[in-house]
Amino acid sequence: MSAKQVDINQWKEIPCECGGMASRGTVKYKSYEIRGWVCAKCKKEYIHPEDSMKISKLEELKKSNPSVKIRTVGQSLVITLPKEIVDVYDLEKGEIVRLNPENLKKIEIEF
Ligand SMILES: [Zn+2]
Repeated sequence: MSAKQVDINQWKEIPCECGGMASRGTVKYKSYEIRGWVCAKCKKEYIHPEDSMKISKLEELKKSNPSVKIRTVGQSLVITLPKEIVDVYDLEKGEIVRLNPENLKKIEIEF
């Protein structure tokens, strides 16, 4: 991100079309809760463009169900996360994730 770019994550309030101010909050978008701004006066919701883009990518991921191959590193088995997943979940090297075994065929990864 360049220094000149506007960082909308810093915007605590944005002007609403009703003349009031919308403050930062959680808004409903499709079946998801994402970041946005809500007007105190008319209750109009503005969705965070970054999050709506992530939801589109997430829905693509849900359709494509990416598959990865298990590899070995030393004594451990390793799976790699494809770039599409890294992007949607903002994952970084060194981050700790939680593995929640659900049953003998499914493990949930919690970020
Ligand atoms: Zn308003």
